[in-house]
This record gives sequence, structure tokens and C-alpha cells, in this order.
Amino acid sequence: ARVGIALVGLGAYALNQIAPNLANTQHARLAAVVSGNAEKAQAVARAYGLEDSHVYSYDDFDRIAEDETVDAVYVILPNAFHRAWTERAFAAGKHVLCEKPMAGTVEDCRAMIAAGEAAGKKLMIAYRAQFDPYNRRAIDLVQGGEIGEPRLIMADHHRLLKLDELRDQWRAQKDLASGGSLYDIGIYSVNGARYLLGEEPTEVTATYLERSDREEVSVEEGVEWQMTFPSGARALCSSGYRADQAKRIHVQGASGELTLDPATDYYERNLTVKTEEGTREITIPDSNQFAAMLDEMALAVKEDREPATPGAEGLRDVEIMQAIYRAAETGDAVAV
Ligand code: NAD
Repeated sequence: ARVGIALVGLGAYALNQIAPNLANTQHARLAAVVSGNAEKAQAVARAYGLEDSHVYSYDDFDRIAEDETVDAVYVILPNAFHRAWTERAFAAGKHVLCEKPMAGTVEDCRAMIAAGEAAGKKLMIAYRAQFDPYNRRAIDLVQGGEIGEPRLIMADHHRLLKLDELRDQWRAQKDLASGGSLYDIGIYSVNGARYLLGEEPTEVTATYLERSDREEVSVEEGVEWQMTFPSGARALCSSGYRADQAKRIHVQGASGELTLDPATDYYERNLTVKTEEGTREITIPDSNQFAAMLDEMALAVKEDREPATPGAEGLRDVEIMQAIYRAAETGDAVAV
């Protein structure tokens, strides 16, 4: 049987990307919806053929414990609510898939991991790019020696924060977003450098690009940072809310280079590899990263094994991002 997933939070990402792509999976299905807006929840349930008994409000969520059609809860709420809802879902006896960034602090992440262990349930962080066939191919090429020893990663994620849009209003507020552009999109550069190199950074330096001079914005709106890796490779990265649309990861190797641009878009990816033999564009048909990510969660549940991107993976990025903020605050290099 397919693994039943309950979506908590019916915002832009849940409704536009996740709900429709559940139908493209092999092992998962939409089993329930949880929302603060009863009308919206009913409409979504109807559109996806769910009976009213599988529609939950935030207040009556805990009765989901008795809903046998629900195996896992997928938390797609503003970042500051990830920990509490993960703990609530574990308390209801469900597995948890949680959006990035995992949570605001290292302490939150550790508590989430501990709650999953105590409940004997899986915890996966929804790092879709790690299941994206383009990013997977890039990992194989870099780690397979195609461009020689990787020396330098340049990774930039930028977009305009649009304060007239609901989904960006909580992102502007520290108490809801937990962090700024780094937590929201810079995380793709942090995670990308780690999975492309297959190693963990030991030290970071950082500078703020924009501390935010807008009254409505209480988070950082731009950071640039460097990460040093044990092999000697370095990552030069930036993230921000004041320039439009960069989703780029470039790897410079001793004998070639690889570019993913965009690297982390939902549907468009371009992968170019340049070596002594010339330049080639790699095209991969049928590359649905959402379905692949959801199927990984479903299979981890079915096969009773650790998911490929467990809580420890989310914790690692939060540790690094906290170190980046500390480095930007103090001007000092910070060990990770
Ligand atoms: P959104 O604002 O569109 O959705 C958030 C939902 O949470 C809304 O339905 C909102 O009603 C609900 N909510 C509950 N309490 C709230 C409160 N106090 N304030 C504001 N909203 C509240 O945001 P989104 O873009 O869907 O992001 C949700 C989560 O998904 C975030 O953690 C974000 O980082 C993550 N996300 C991940 C990706 C990805 O590619 N992996 C893409 C987008 C968003």
C-alpha cells in the first residue's frame, strides 16, 4: 500500500508543488490535510478526493493519531513552527517529513531528532535538490573525477523578497522565519557545497551584504560567506533578498568545470560540463525531484530504514548557518 501523507500547512509550496506531485509518486499518497483555514482545507480535500474525516484544523490535529490512513506528517509551515509540529506529529505516533530549514536553532534540531528516536519514528528533512536527477548527476561527475580535484565552489541564491505576498511576509519576520535569506535560500548553497564535495566544512568566514534598512524586515537580507573543507576545497557563497533570481552552483576543478544554472529551480535545470575534451550540456528527461523526494520518505517508512536526508542532515546545515551568522557578527573565522 502507498504511504499516506498528511500535509500540515496549505501555503504556496504545499498547494502548488507538493500536493500535485504526490500523484506523480510510486509509493506515497495524500491522506489528509491540516490547516488553520477550514474553507481552504475543505476545498483542497474535495479537489484531491479526500473525505471530510481526513480534514484537520490545528486545534483538532491530535485526533490524527487514530487516523490509520495517515503514516507520515509533512510539515510545510513557517520555519519557527517546524519544531513544535514535528514534536506534535511524533506524539501522535506518525513519521515526519519536515521542510527546510529544519528549525531555528541547533537546540531545536536536536530536540526534534530526540523526539523521533523516542517515538521510534522516521524524521526526514525535505531536501528536494538531493533527489533531483540533475544534482545527482553533478554529484556523480564531480566525485567521479570528471573535472579533476574540485577546488572551488561558487554558489549564489538570490530573489526579491516581495512584501505584498503572504508567503514573503512571514519570511521578513525573525520570530516566524528564524533567519533571513541564508535560512531561506542560502541553505541551498550550504547543502549543495556539502553534497557536491561529499565532505563537511571545518571553518566559515562571512560578511553581511544587507542588514535590512526596511522597517517591515527584521531578518538579514544578504550574506556572503566562505566555507573551508578538509580537502582544501573552498566554497564562496552568497544569498540575498535584494537582487532577482540567482539559483546557481558552479564547481571549478583542477582540470575542468561544472555549472548548474539554475541548480535549484523547481522545474528548470541546466547542467554544463567543460573539460579538455570540450563543453557538453547534459539533458535528463523525466526528472521530477518532488516525486523522488516524496518516494524516498515513503520507502524509508515501508522499508523501516533511515531516510537519505535524516534529521542529522538538517541539523548540520543549521549548525553551519549559525556559524555563518556568528562569523558575520564578529568578523572572525568560526570553526564548525
Ligand atoms: P506560505 O506562507 O505560502 O505557507 C505557509 C503556510 O503556513 C500558510 O498556509 C499559512 O496559512 C500557514 N501558517 C500557519 N501559521 C502561520 C503564521 N503564524 N504565519 C504565517 N503563516 C502561517 O509559505 P511557503 O513558501 O509555502 O513555505 C512554507 C515552508 O516550506 C517553509 O519552511 C519554507 O522554507 C518551505 N519551502 C520549501 C521550498 C522548497 O523548495 N523545498 C519551497 C518553498 C517553501
